[in-house]
Amino acid sequence: MKRRAMAVGLLIGALVLVACGRESTPGGTSARVPVPSVAQHVTVAGSPTFARMTQRGTVIVGVKNDQPGMSYLNPITNTYEGFDIEIARLIAAKLGFDPQTKITYKVVPTAAREQAIINGQIDYYVGSYTINDGRKKQIAFAGPYFIAGQALLVNADEKSITGPDTLQGKRVCSATGSTSIRLVREQRLTDKIVEFQTYSQCVDQLLAGQVDAVTTDDAILKGYAAQDSQHLKVVGHPFTQEPYGVGLPHADDALRAKVNDILETAAADGTWKQIYDGTLGTPGSSATPPAVERY
Ligand code: GLU
Repeated sequence: MKRRAMAVGLLIGALVLVACGRESTPGGTSARVPVPSVAQHVTVAGSPTFARMTQRGTVIVGVKNDQPGMSYLNPITNTYEGFDIEIARLIAAKLGFDPQTKITYKVVPTAAREQAIINGQIDYYVGSYTINDGRKKQIAFAGPYFIAGQALLVNADEKSITGPDTLQGKRVCSATGSTSIRLVREQRLTDKIVEFQTYSQCVDQLLAGQVDAVTTDDAILKGYAAQDSQHLKVVGHPFTQEPYGVGLPHADDALRAKVNDILETAAADGTWKQIYDGTLGTPGSSATPPAVERY
């Protein structure tokens, strides 16, 4: 009897292991995040952006497609997945749009985000978008919903690069228009800056030996390292604070207040934690959402 119970226990253990193995595919997956319920009869009085979405019947969300774990188009399933994507889906659902059928994803790289929002090409943007005063002059932010920090990605056998003060003379790659590349310039961390539109292009350069390091937020770099841990590693303690916000049209205060309400509710009712655990974290992690800053 005792032995049978043990065998059953082992079998269950093995099944759990198999299940976990499948779910934690490299780069993370959204498979463990519950689909949010779609709010009914939503109104956002005085929001031109919400009026536009309602008239169109769909939401156009600006995202990245090459940041595993965060904002990633999985080439095998051909679906978007990651922490940012789940935040984007939650917002759509709570604005009354079914995230499975009523979202159109538009890929917008770092340097083109403000203009895409200003031109009305997207309704809102979710994709490792740091809230800062310069950007706030052109667009508005709800949030923050996450705090990342700048770090470095190097080849697994790299020994001389350990932090921002070890980059002198090294070829460092980052994305045009990012807070990451600005910091490298302003602090003159190196004079060999290599610039691309996307971080995945930088990672390709790193793997090919064309650059020595890629720098951006740790949340993004950890996704690349998880996808290819044999060749890549993240080094350096995060050396900045990057509060992520939802990018919105500048004058749309009503929608900003509504999205902040959605983020606050998600933080309070455990939805944020489910999203975090299902994408970036591991179940039972101690991560907590940052407080929303209304301005
Ligand atoms: N969070 C930083 C930024 O918004 C770097 C990541 C990115 O480019 O999306 O500039």
